[in-house]
Amino acid sequence: MSSENTKPSLPIVWGCYSDLRPIEIETILLSSPIAYVPWGALEWHSQHAPIGLDSTKADGICRSLAERSGGVVLPAIPLATNTIKPFKGFPHSIDISARLITDLAEEICLQLADEGFRIVILFTGHYPPQQIDALEEGAARARAKVPTTRFEVWADNHFLEDGAYSADHAGAYETSYQMYFQPESVDLSALPERAVTLDEDGITGQDPREGSGARGGEQLATLLRGALPKISEWLMDLRRER
Ligand SMILES: [Zn+2]
Repeated sequence: MSSENTKPSLPIVWGCYSDLRPIEIETILLSSPIAYVPWGALEWHSQHAPIGLDSTKADGICRSLAERSGGVVLPAIPLATNTIKPFKGFPHSIDISARLITDLAEEICLQLADEGFRIVILFTGHYPPQQIDALEEGAARARAKVPTTRFEVWADNHFLEDGAYSADHAGAYETSYQMYFQPESVDLSALPERAVTLDEDGITGQDPREGSGARGGEQLATLLRGALPKISEWLMDLRRER
């Protein structure tokens, strides 16, 4: 468990759920009853980036949020629907049915609510509409059963400020996040010496060679600016209830 004193009376405490002992979870629940669930994928991200990019991205973003808001971060769930395998036939992706993702999202939401979390954020690094819809359906079922917990589905591409960067698949945007969170896992020299394409390389958006760890850090800062005020507002609402 980590803590950072911004105000002496209100330390921000957070941790990775699987590393926490009961007393640590109970302490976090008292101050910031938020659970972040990084939702990733096992999906082709071209020759230069690892299969787990979406999980690494979602996990890194959730840890960055939790460091600032308090709360817990669950282990990343590497299950995604509508990967680039059925879409374009690239190998090594593990494609999961939307039905299973919806069921799992619902059960995880309900279990976290049962454990006392009042805000549950399913944060997906894989964001085709089918993935968002599957998660939203699970969250909607949980909302209907537990109206006292807030269940949200977020994706990193929801927090792009106009014109700064655009989301992609394995392009400069996603590659920059990977280079920020896990620089040693990216090998730009594995890319072909020509312009990259969706059909040949499984890449959309800007060329990954235009990405960098520094750009990943800027993308993260933009996301935090958009996301943290919403979380603070929800936490304030909870504190007013008490
Ligand atoms: Zn991705």
